[in-house]
Amino acid sequence: MIATEKKAPLVLILGAPGAGKGTQAERIAQFLNVPSISTGAIFRQNIKEETELGKRANEFISKGEFVPDSVTNPMVAARLEAPDVDNGCLLDGYPRTVEQAHYLRDALASKGKEIDLVLEIVTNQEEVIARLLKRAEIEHRADDNEEVIRHRMEVYREMTEPMATYYADQDKLVQVDGMGTIDEVWARIEKALLDAGFARN
Ligand code: AMP
Repeated sequence: MIATEKKAPLVLILGAPGAGKGTQAERIAQFLNVPSISTGAIFRQNIKEETELGKRANEFISKGEFVPDSVTNPMVAARLEAPDVDNGCLLDGYPRTVEQAHYLRDALASKGKEIDLVLEIVTNQEEVIARLLKRAEIEHRADDNEEVIRHRMEVYREMTEPMATYYADQDKLVQVDGMGTIDEVWARIEKALLDAGFARN
């Protein structure tokens, strides 16, 4: 019998704060039929449950700073050990720096895996700020006031944009226009996934 082993997709989604990556991440995970791993969501859950990790993370998140790698990297490494990741996963919000990308590369390489595709949702900064302020009203997130939002955007440009270049240099980066409705943006992402050779699962 010919082996027809299905490749476990490892996809990463990037976008400035408010680019709508959380929503699109859920759709991508559904499309690929893989778990979605969101570091931001894991931190928020821990903050809600008032765990030690949550308390430590909140010191940084509330200021719009990154949680230190000494906390974030092992947390992700542990999550990647779970059996549900064997069939692939969608990473949302990790890695966010070139250093984290290197850590992830090494963690995956030890299992003979690598990132297949990096989708970056590209947005207009002022429209995104308006979107985030609206979300702040609904969700009461501590990191959604205007000053913190602007700081998070600056951090994205300084720390995460260079990481997009790191993946572009490996021909893994696909940029998607993030302006428009959720469905319009999703249609572009779905096309990018199909173009990259991923089928709906
Ligand atoms: P997100 O939900 O992805 O926007 O993440 C919310 C916040 O969690 C970020 O602004 C950071 O403070 C923190 N965070 C999420 N992912 C990471 C990461 N990979 N490295 C460091 N901090 C992170």
